Amino acid sequence: MKDSNVIEVKQKDSILNISVNEQTPEQFSVSWVYSRPSRGASDALHKPNRPLSSATAIPAEFYQEIGALEDLSQPFKEIFNANKLRSERVLHWLMRTILVSLSELQELGREGVFFMEDAVHAEPIIGGNGANAAIRDGVGLAECISEDGTTGVLKWYDTQYGRWKEGVDESEKMIAKVHSEPTYLPEVIYPFSGIETEELLFWNRKQSVVLT
Ligand SMILES: Cc1cc2nc3c(=O)[nH]c(=O)nc-3n(C[C@H](O)[C@H](O)[C@H](O)COP(=O)(O)OP(=O)(O)OC[C@H]3O[C@@H](n4cnc5c(N)ncnc54)[C@H](O)[C@@H]3O)c2cc1C
Repeated sequence: MKDSNVIEVKQKDSILNISVNEQTPEQFSVSWVYSRPSRGASDALHKPNRPLSSATAIPAEFYQEIGALEDLSQPFKEIFNANKLRSERVLHWLMRTILVSLSELQELGREGVFFMEDAVHAEPIIGGNGANAAIRDGVGLAECISEDGTTGVLKWYDTQYGRWKEGVDESEKMIAKVHSEPTYLPEVIYPFSGIETEELLFWNRKQSVVLT
């Protein structure tokens, strides 16, 4: 970790990531991420209809999956220890992309209902730039309304839609690449062409490791 505060290993299509947030002589503050593609209907960790409030409800199968990881080197072996993880605060996210059609946005806009940011174009947490795109929308829409009022919003949609589509498309390619098995060729690692893709992410922020 000489040049970075982030280290990562891949096991097949799963990513194990550790970030060092802070270091003092006494302790490290680290966070970790475990992410992989959804395995579809038979995947016990894929819960597309769970409420947001259940992000802290971690299925037992997660700990079994972590426990089955083989040949982890340090510090991955230490951090991704299923027994230790049971006592940590772990969050479970479903990473989705969304792109609402331009015609739908315009139809609702004509009725005076306007959307922006994740409500129109959501990108996965990993490999996405959702926050950057959202800030740009907020500033752009405010400028548009200050200049033309809400009547300018339909035109604003026209000018932004290409950027939104490009952002979602690029984020889908990026998450597919991140979760691709190492042997895949770059040309064949992008299986997504549709509007929606779902990947899983387990996340822990600020786990402190006391140095002994
Ligand atoms: C764990 C995590 C990590 C992320 N990391 C990154 C990153 O590293 N880089 C990046 O670019 N993006 C990242 N993102 C994505 C980024 O946070 C979003 O793209 C961005 O916040 C979208 O902004 P938004 O305003 O559309 O939605 P939000 O930020 O979700 O804001 C929506 C707000 O509406 C409120 N709300 C919802 N329903 C109602 C209601 N009925 N009444 C009143 N209020 C309501 C919510 O409480 C919330 O405050 C991450 C997201 C998550 C979840």
